[in-house]
Amino acid sequence: MFRHDNLTVNDRNHLVIGGCDCVDLAAQYGTPLYVMDEDVIRSNARAYKNAIDKYYGGNGMALYASKALSVMYMYKIVAEEGLGVDVVSGGELYTALKAGFNPENIYFHGNNKTTDELNFALDEGVGRIVVDNYDELSELNTLCISKGKVAKILFRIKPGIDAHTHEFISTGQIDSKFGVTLENGEALDIIKTASQMEGVEVVGVHCHIGSQIFELAPFEEAARVMLGFVAEVKSKLGIEISELNLGGGFGIRYVEGDAPIAYDSYIEAVSRVVKSICEEKGLKLPRILMEPGRSIVGDAGITLYTIGMVKDIPGVRKYVSVDGGMADNPRYIMYDAEYDGVLANRAGDRPEETVTLCGRCCESGDILIKNAHLPSAKKGDIMCIMSTGAYNYSMASNYNRIPRPALVMVSGGKSKLAVKRETYEDIVRNDII
Ligand SMILES: *Cc1c(COP(=O)(O)O)cnc(C)c1O
Repeated sequence: MFRHDNLTVNDRNHLVIGGCDCVDLAAQYGTPLYVMDEDVIRSNARAYKNAIDKYYGGNGMALYASKALSVMYMYKIVAEEGLGVDVVSGGELYTALKAGFNPENIYFHGNNKTTDELNFALDEGVGRIVVDNYDELSELNTLCISKGKVAKILFRIKPGIDAHTHEFISTGQIDSKFGVTLENGEALDIIKTASQMEGVEVVGVHCHIGSQIFELAPFEEAARVMLGFVAEVKSKLGIEISELNLGGGFGIRYVEGDAPIAYDSYIEAVSRVVKSICEEKGLKLPRILMEPGRSIVGDAGITLYTIGMVKDIPGVRKYVSVDGGMADNPRYIMYDAEYDGVLANRAGDRPEETVTLCGRCCESGDILIKNAHLPSAKKGDIMCIMSTGAYNYSMASNYNRIPRPALVMVSGGKSKLAVKRETYEDIVRNDII
């Protein structure tokens, strides 16, 4: 009955995830509560890993883009499933290392890595640094020389591909703060500059064309454009690029109408294009990397809330409020993101009305679902929002001094805490009077 096949309804008419009754989870851990289905995370990760083995002879690695959900437990799962990770800050890097993640399999991104962050990455032996611009290249080179190290680097390239996505999250075009431009020669020039430096070794090129993409064509096109560039680098500079990183952005289902395609099909399609172009242009097959973030954790997660005040404004709308909102899920207020939801304690009941599900923060835009079709909800009901595994906990804030919710992992009818709920004490721990 749900579009999320890991969710079912039990004989108490309660929603079930990973074999756990959501009403029991809410009672045990409190609400709001992030719940992640560990089996779904693992099977999503495996789909990418297996696809690289099957379609590209294992000559590559899927990197979990950990900004989607950066908590120690995630790095542990991802390591166990044989994926690498990408991190975009010292904080994400610290979390990964603290979880015991092998630094060799970490790719460090970011358009403005600080000196401290670069030092941190170099001292910890991070596998690859994805360099974004000239300033970073020259600073990195200086740091490496002073440490007597040579950093293996990729360059972030803007391939100029429009992936038909929301303007806010489209990053492949020329007017973007990320990366160097292909069409004006900047990308070729920066590689030439780097090739003359002692502190860095150019191993690869990277692009990330956007997010929540449901088609193969933009990725095939990205592979074509990037390999054309690899060929140009070889012919003009005599440099062989051995790693091709095509980023992430694979779409997931939030609401009806979102039609995700099988995650392994992206790697199948890209592998086919890469093999054929390399043969045609006489290039060695590069190692390929892809960086799924949302598609590894997004559909594995739900958020449980308790319903509070209900306000009916006759002839206007009915507001149903929950004990969370934009502080734990800012995606509506940031992107007009859409979600589906269900009452977890009456999961099989038919929707009776259309209401606006709102949060408890002091912003009128603090909405979770603008038009939610629900059974008549009342104080104390448990609300479940689906597909909240990505960019919810990782984007959560303490706005209005609301403590961040706990995050639990479920599998085979068992639940365990992966992140504790914050307390008021946590909220004031850095305040000084
Ligand atoms: C955000 C990001 C990703 C992951 O994007 P998803 O849409 O979550 O798959 C991958 N690579 C880079 C460089 C990113 O910035």
